[in-house]
Amino acid sequence: MPLAAYMRKKGEKLPPLSERLAKLGLNKDWDYVFHLPLRYEDETSLTPIGQLEPGSTQQCEGEVLRSERIRRPSGEQLQAVVSDGTGTVTVRLLHFYPSQIKQLAVGQKIRLYGPVRDGFLGLEMLHPKIRAALEGAALPSTLTPVYPAGEGITQNWLRKRIARALLDVEIKDLLPAEVLNRLHLPSLDAALRYIHHPPVGASLQALQDKTDPAWERLKFDELVAQQIALRHSRALKALCRAPQIAPEKHPITDKLLELLPFSLTGAQKRVVGEIRADLAKIIPMNRLVQGDVGSGKTVIAALAAALTIDAGYQAALMAPTEILAEQHYEKICQWLKPLGIKIVWLGGKQKSRQKNENLEAIASGEAQLIVGTHALIQDSVRFANLGLSIVDEQHRFGVAQRLALRESSGNHMPHLLMLSATPIPRTLAMSYLADLDVSVVDELPAGRQPITTKLVSLTRKNEIIATIAQQVAQGRQVYWVCPLIEESEKIDLTAATETYEDIKSLLPGLRIGLVHGALAPEDKQTVMQSFKDGEIDVLVATTVIEVGVDVPNATLMVIEHAERFGLAQLHQLRGRVGRGAEKSFCILLYGELSETGRERLKVIRETNDGFEIARRDLEIRGPGEFLGARQSGVPLLRFANLEEDSALLESARDFALQWLAKDPERAKQHARRWFSGYEKFLEA
Ligand code: ADP
Ligand code: MG
Repeated sequence: MPLAAYMRKKGEKLPPLSERLAKLGLNKDWDYVFHLPLRYEDETSLTPIGQLEPGSTQQCEGEVLRSERIRRPSGEQLQAVVSDGTGTVTVRLLHFYPSQIKQLAVGQKIRLYGPVRDGFLGLEMLHPKIRAALEGAALPSTLTPVYPAGEGITQNWLRKRIARALLDVEIKDLLPAEVLNRLHLPSLDAALRYIHHPPVGASLQALQDKTDPAWERLKFDELVAQQIALRHSRALKALCRAPQIAPEKHPITDKLLELLPFSLTGAQKRVVGEIRADLAKIIPMNRLVQGDVGSGKTVIAALAAALTIDAGYQAALMAPTEILAEQHYEKICQWLKPLGIKIVWLGGKQKSRQKNENLEAIASGEAQLIVGTHALIQDSVRFANLGLSIVDEQHRFGVAQRLALRESSGNHMPHLLMLSATPIPRTLAMSYLADLDVSVVDELPAGRQPITTKLVSLTRKNEIIATIAQQVAQGRQVYWVCPLIEESEKIDLTAATETYEDIKSLLPGLRIGLVHGALAPEDKQTVMQSFKDGEIDVLVATTVIEVGVDVPNATLMVIEHAERFGLAQLHQLRGRVGRGAEKSFCILLYGELSETGRERLKVIRETNDGFEIARRDLEIRGPGEFLGARQSGVPLLRFANLEEDSALLESARDFALQWLAKDPERAKQHARRWFSGYEKFLEA
């Protein structure tokens, strides 16, 4: 039984088997066929006990000479000595069942498989796999697969179920034989069988590294499928029509530029130009604006919206959190209200009367600019003539959510503009996101002071408290970020409240505020506003302030238990300071640090470059996060690795093109086999 099963609380029931299997992606026979081993056990041969080697995993057979139960402070152990005439080995079970006492009774002939080690009394096997050694029973002729399994799902059950699926499913080869011959790849059927049940003598190393022809075949199929899906979705997209936004006169845009309290940076001007060119086309724009924290992406979005409104269309701006959306709303109102633009807010927890009024204004076209959260993509929202959808911090949304804002319009597809501080890994840009245009805001507004970041042990918290008092005495404001506990609002709330009380008692006389995710939006807004207005000296906050919050007088940020945060997250948090002309600091307070933990925090200390940090972060977390695939549940590449298999990717691309030209139906059938529902997924 897997350990997790022991750890389950008494009386707590496992979810039904089908649910547990579905969690592993196992629903149909076909899924089982593609549920591939993590590793293998070699039970194809027997080693004489006298020749067992400590440190290796081996199989042997013998008779139980002695068997005893031994009391230890930690509990009762079962210990049996087994011999085959060439030597003896001790089997040790630290916990056991009655059935195992029988299995290891004196005189039993047993087969053992497991790691061998040098024990106190000579050779020893700790918790080996134990089976009865049947006279004349043949050894398996193939390696034994070990599969990814979940709670309450045994290897034995999976092995049988997968073996049955391999018998029941007809694994038809869709790829033409000449391609397989040219690339020296086996048939799909042979490849899968080989990987599930490698014969004696198969190279374990090649299997592990996924470099043998069987693995190459699977990876090739997957990459081909991806290429086909991409071309297909691109072809579909080219058929879509977007409103052409190229107004002859653009008084709103002009006026906005005139009223801005600053002039655009060169990078901002360039990116606005790129967006303008896209909007003027009749095919929908699909553009990502990447720019480090503080590079000024919001004003770019506002200018794109202004141009859209100048052309007589609606624009929508969606942000991932209430705080951020509210802040955008406020800033945009400040910029655009004086120009007579009708701006409407759509939030999660709005009064229904107000909400209905707003929905009506959106449907009638009276609302020209709509700002909000996920509320924007609910079914009840009907736009009159949406011309431009803007998604801020796009990586925070799932694929499905981004798609939804694009669909929420009548007979045309709106242009889509995404903003992000997280760069796309090159390999993703080459594959999944090949049809995404990217603009980079690679220049910060002038006069910004670089932020100084320090790593400080939590044992020196008192010194940091003194620093805070100093900063406040100089008229500055401070963020104190609560330690990350878990993604649960309740725990988050308790921790935040505790931290708040703690800081309050450590800094008596200062005005301390608290903001966290469980606050009602209007309360959050009130706290943020008083912080902005300078009525709060130290704002104790959870990661709700992570994105976009803009208070230039805040010059110090302390992050408690910084080691618990992701790198990109720390960088985002740190971006809340250094927004004004004063020198700013970020203090990363750490508790226990592992070697890698220290390395990670050093990255943050050593660079202020969000792109570099995101690159390092992606190395650690993998690209899945970027696509938001985790939230949407859509699988990414399972087998191929875009970096390692770049040569294969190239053959796959060439072949996919030929195949689509020659036999498009079969090619698409192949893609569907790999990515069901891929057409939708790839539009994101
Ligand atoms: P981000 O790219 O992180 O979303 P924001 O759009 O929030 O950055 O901009 C950060 C701050 O810089 C805001 O206060 C914004 O008004 C200001 N800002 C933007 N562009 C400029 C500019 N060209 N010159 C000076 N300040 C600017
Ligand atoms: Mg922003």
